[in-house]
Amino acid sequence: MYRMMSATCPHCSVAMHAGISFQYLGCEPSEFETQDLYRALVSNCPACKRLIVSIERYWVVDNGEDDRTLEVRMVVPRAVAAKVVPPEVPQPYRQDFTEAYVIVDDSPKASAALSRRCLQTILHEHVGIKKKNLEQEIDELLAKGSLPSHISDSLHMIRQVGNFAAHPMKSTNSGEIIEVEKGEAEWNLKVLEDLFDYYFVAPAKAKERKDALNKKLIEAGKPPIK
Ligand SMILES: [Zn+2]
Repeated sequence: MYRMMSATCPHCSVAMHAGISFQYLGCEPSEFETQDLYRALVSNCPACKRLIVSIERYWVVDNGEDDRTLEVRMVVPRAVAAKVVPPEVPQPYRQDFTEAYVIVDDSPKASAALSRRCLQTILHEHVGIKKKNLEQEIDELLAKGSLPSHISDSLHMIRQVGNFAAHPMKSTNSGEIIEVEKGEAEWNLKVLEDLFDYYFVAPAKAKERKDALNKKLIEAGKPPIK
């Protein structure tokens, strides 16, 4: 079987539209409709030419007419290439973000713990908010009302699921440990990217534009903008 798919190359991070071939592992699907089946998804990135292989666990449904993905695990490469963090973002935020990004597939819990720590360090060191815990710190930041709404909405979501990875919490109904879902870990990364942009990248770009304008004003013999 052969399909086209659009994705981001895990090696070079370039958006790719590539053919993907399916290689069945073990038996052909139609004979074993009631158990998990496995197949390898194989493609090559058109940009960097490197091989990408994932193992998919799936079920056959609708009498073999269709299938349903249960799990996809990438085996080549072992992890997604580190996302390029904009150069304006200082350490240690870069390091924490990159590590949280690289391990998000293998350990959402560890990734979420790292990204929460990164968020907390930004609040402590850059914004100057220090409270008893991250939830209270997010509350304080939201209370300032200074963030663009898309960021404050996202932070509110983190606040709602808060601190699960760092401090395991039990469900009040079932008494079970609440697990950090991969979706939540990915959500944290997205919020960090937004905050990076808001606190570091956008101000640096604005300063660049102002400096360029002032250079022209001075050249024209006019006073620069403060
Ligand atoms: Zn590539």
